[in-house]
Amino acid sequence: METKIFKKDDIPEAVKLLKQGELVAFPTETVYGLGALATNEKAVKGVYAAKGRPSDNPLIVTVADEKMMAQYVENIPERAQKLINHFWPGPLTMILPAKEGSLPTAVTGGLPTAAFRCPNDALTHELISQLGAPIVGPSANTSTKPSPTTAEHVYHDLKGKIAGIIDSGPTAIGLESTIIDLSVAKPIVLRPGEITPEELGEVLGEEVLMNKGTAVTAGVPKAPGMKYRHYAPSAPVYIVDREEDFNSIPHGDDIGVVALDSVLDKIEAKNKFSLGTSIDEAAHNLFGALRFFDNQAQIKEIYVQGFKQGDISAAYMNRLNKSAAGHHFEKNN
Ligand code: AMP
Ligand code: MG
Repeated sequence: METKIFKKDDIPEAVKLLKQGELVAFPTETVYGLGALATNEKAVKGVYAAKGRPSDNPLIVTVADEKMMAQYVENIPERAQKLINHFWPGPLTMILPAKEGSLPTAVTGGLPTAAFRCPNDALTHELISQLGAPIVGPSANTSTKPSPTTAEHVYHDLKGKIAGIIDSGPTAIGLESTIIDLSVAKPIVLRPGEITPEELGEVLGEEVLMNKGTAVTAGVPKAPGMKYRHYAPSAPVYIVDREEDFNSIPHGDDIGVVALDSVLDKIEAKNKFSLGTSIDEAAHNLFGALRFFDNQAQIKEIYVQGFKQGDISAAYMNRLNKSAAGHHFEKNN
């Protein structure tokens, strides 16, 4: 199959393909999503196949607006309304009880709930509005690989497997949306993102907790996707927690180093990839950095800077921990 690259003027063609049950990748402010008509079970199954994604991992339902979401939930709870008013369109996904039978099992993974998101991207808004129905939107990468932050990343993973990619340049944030579960008694963040639990708590007027660790409550995975290895290049990744430890990491042609300019400027290394000059830029560049070295067979180990400070550091460290399988660089004294 030819994978076409679509620009602004090609939205009607992309809509036509989605209506026919084809897959089209779309831009958002977080990462590129892999779109299929959410009400078409066969198309949705195609998304799992193209990504190589485990079928018990439910998909996010991407809507043009609150009105579209209302067709797939029993009602919009007060908490959801407050968050919609404040954060939508934006990088926030809400888990809500789904209207029974309104979405195929392939979308919800058989759960009584569904995940809803309304991205802040003009082309994608136009796409879903013209389609008149939601699209599923997992990240448009091969399952376990870093999420795509450019149309080129999508093309690299999915060329020949999907009908098209709407190219709107690099994404603004670079890490996936915050997921908040509103289907339980106390709202809880299942996946950290740019919008923090503190910000959510302020809008809701109550404390919002972060689900730490395994995302499993009493043996039931809360966000099923959180249990899989993720964001991982082929070479092992090590987190470097302290800037000074970059002086002690191994040297060699087969070592990749990923850090801020302020760190890279001070060290000798053959293969450097810059995270930029701040934690926000680092979040934006992380997946691109992991992909950069994943595409080089000679790289055998990748060392990546860790961060503790900054609003997005929890989201950044969550993704980095998964790609490193929790491995931190330990300096031998
Ligand atoms: P991705 O599509 O790769 O960005 O991941 C979406 C995340 O949302 C995965 O971790 C899913 O397991 C999670 N998710 C989707 N729907 C639900 C749901 N109804 N309840 C809990 N988690 C969900
Ligand atoms: Mg993903």
